[in-house]
Amino acid sequence: SACPEYEGSDVLRKIADHPCYDPKAQHKYGRIHLPVAPACNIQCRFCVREYDCVNESRPGVTSEVLTPQEAVSKLRNVLSEHPYIKVVGIAGPGDPLANDETFETLELVKKEFPDLLLCMSTNGLALPDRVDDLVRLDISTLTVTVNAVDPKIMEKIYSHIVHEGKIYKGPEAAKILHRRQMEGIRAAVDAGIVVKINTVLIPTINDDHVVDIARRMSEMGVYIMNIIPMIPQGEFSSLRAPTTEERAKAQKACEEFVSQMKHCRQCRADAYGLLGKDLSQVSEERRRLIRL
Ligand code: SF4
Ligand code: SF4
Repeated sequence: SACPEYEGSDVLRKIADHPCYDPKAQHKYGRIHLPVAPACNIQCRFCVREYDCVNESRPGVTSEVLTPQEAVSKLRNVLSEHPYIKVVGIAGPGDPLANDETFETLELVKKEFPDLLLCMSTNGLALPDRVDDLVRLDISTLTVTVNAVDPKIMEKIYSHIVHEGKIYKGPEAAKILHRRQMEGIRAAVDAGIVVKINTVLIPTINDDHVVDIARRMSEMGVYIMNIIPMIPQGEFSSLRAPTTEERAKAQKACEEFVSQMKHCRQCRADAYGLLGKDLSQVSEERRRLIRL
């Protein structure tokens, strides 16, 4: 049930090899996340920054950061053992768009492995400035975390943002982030990039609002939505995580507007292999061997 805007498009053909976007591809093809992006330009109240960005990754894991050169040499080695890997993604440990290393890495990857699909995740703050770069790199799929489409609700979720070298808080921060997310998503969809949104389901904060998000995203041409349960950490450690039933209910309500991704594993920023069989947690010694 793809969004009509993508029907018959080149991009749709490409995601047939993407294990996250096409459930049929998940047992056949793999992905690798290259952890080259440690910095983040915002602060989500549920995020503890010594770990990976929880917008895309399972909370409570720390991925080791690689330089672009190290990342490409790891990719080379992993591909020689796991040729079924078709997608290279940058998902952290911070916000990929807030790190120039993300672009440096993808340039290198594109040059050496032009057939791989490129994928990225972001909180969206820097997106309007980067869509041209994403197009130049021929990024196929982009995940933007949208936890609200109402700045009043966003204000409760984000404690500050850093925009053009300045720190913003409160309503101002929420307004800027909202505007930038909408502008960025619109530009990415217009450029033919398949856009997925991640929404962190936060009881009492945005649980009554997820359908508004789905409706708005569908209007904007977003391809798929992935509702992630919030894990209470940081400033939100006194809130509770949503139950499985609450998440299923949210998915069902949103499904009416935009298709739901239900097999996302919230992979680490350094995950690789098939989705269900993550190889990133192999022994340190093995990891060293793979990298060398
Ligand atoms: Fe943490 Fe990701 Fe939010 Fe940045 S965008 S504060 S890394 S959850
Ligand atoms: Fe795919 Fe989800 Fe893992 Fe990203 S976190 S690689 S979308 S399964």
